[in-house]
Amino acid sequence: MFKKEVLERFLRYVVIDTMSDASKADKIHPSTKGQWDLLRLLEKELKDLGLEDVTLDEYGYLLARVPANTEGKSAIAFSSHVDTASDVMGNGVKPRVVKNYDGKDIKLNSKYTIFAAENPELASYIGSDLVVSDGNTLLGSDDKSGIAEIMTAVSYIVSHPEIKHGEIEILFSPDEETGFGMDFFDMERLHCRALYTMDGGTRYVIEDECFNAASVKVHFEGVAYHLGAARGRMVNALTMCSAFINALPQAESPEATDGRYGYYCAHEVKGSVSSVDLEILLRDFDYNSLEERIKALKSLGKTIEALYRGGKVKVRSSISYRNMVEASRKDPKALEAVYEAGKALGQPLVNELIRGGTDGARIAEKGISCPNIYAGGHNMHSRFEWVGVDAMNDASALIVEIVKQWAK
Ligand SMILES: [Zn+2]
Repeated sequence: MFKKEVLERFLRYVVIDTMSDASKADKIHPSTKGQWDLLRLLEKELKDLGLEDVTLDEYGYLLARVPANTEGKSAIAFSSHVDTASDVMGNGVKPRVVKNYDGKDIKLNSKYTIFAAENPELASYIGSDLVVSDGNTLLGSDDKSGIAEIMTAVSYIVSHPEIKHGEIEILFSPDEETGFGMDFFDMERLHCRALYTMDGGTRYVIEDECFNAASVKVHFEGVAYHLGAARGRMVNALTMCSAFINALPQAESPEATDGRYGYYCAHEVKGSVSSVDLEILLRDFDYNSLEERIKALKSLGKTIEALYRGGKVKVRSSISYRNMVEASRKDPKALEAVYEAGKALGQPLVNELIRGGTDGARIAEKGISCPNIYAGGHNMHSRFEWVGVDAMNDASALIVEIVKQWAK
């Protein structure tokens, strides 16, 4: 039902250059000018739909509201991010629609091909339409699929006043891919009890758990000395640092874990004999276990300091984001509404874990449930990205049905 509109919107949004720049995002927000172009277009399109409460603030957060048309129902929100990743070129996207997909490999250009054997999910789209890039850039399905799905659903809801609903908020935000996505957003602006991020991947996958994340900064202070007279005097900060990294359990690293297992990851190191700064990322679904990891690193710091006499080790930790499941356990209605909606539409929804974070995780800290819903893309952040038009259609239908569930 939504195929034509959601595809048109998607093709209109992906050609706008919105690649974000992580090196600027802590100072300039949005970090790149192109994001303003898409935000302004969306602002106009929302106003053209007849919405009156549409505000684009100075940091590039676009918040719009569809007023309630029935009383006593909770406000809910849907959100997506306007930026695209920079892992491969994210600007200059030339989308191509593969009509009536035949199940074979999809040649993007003379150099690159999406191989059917490496993409088993393609099989469920045989006979329907897909969108791919020309192989020179990513496609931008992350997260312009989400934007197209929300816009399509909202346009349907406002043109069907017989659908009863509480207040619906729409949030489009910049710079998600930089990790600074929610840093400048005033959460007090939100009225919603639940916020759905349309930022997942594979069709029918719902996520309401993400990692708890901490960053641990370890500073090693050595004692520099002329190397010819160093015996008994020099303390090499690099040696201390490498002893520290070597003590991290290899079985608890990103490359050795999946599912529910957490990890330590030595992420960045800078320095020389006299001092070294090391950053370690910690991830765990269980918050207590994350705290145990922090404690372990602090005591490891003391041990290294004791072993390398004269050297100093300082360990500082900070929490980056929390597992959003805490909010959804307190208020399970957000997730229940998704599954009820899936049932009503005959969509076989499945729950999966996010081994990462989402913008929703930051909002969930305020006690708002923030499940993440599939947007339909595959191979995100790569030139092999593709999205099924049917998946975007189904996601739009799911949004409309979730709105209905909340008004029951
Ligand atoms: Zn995304």
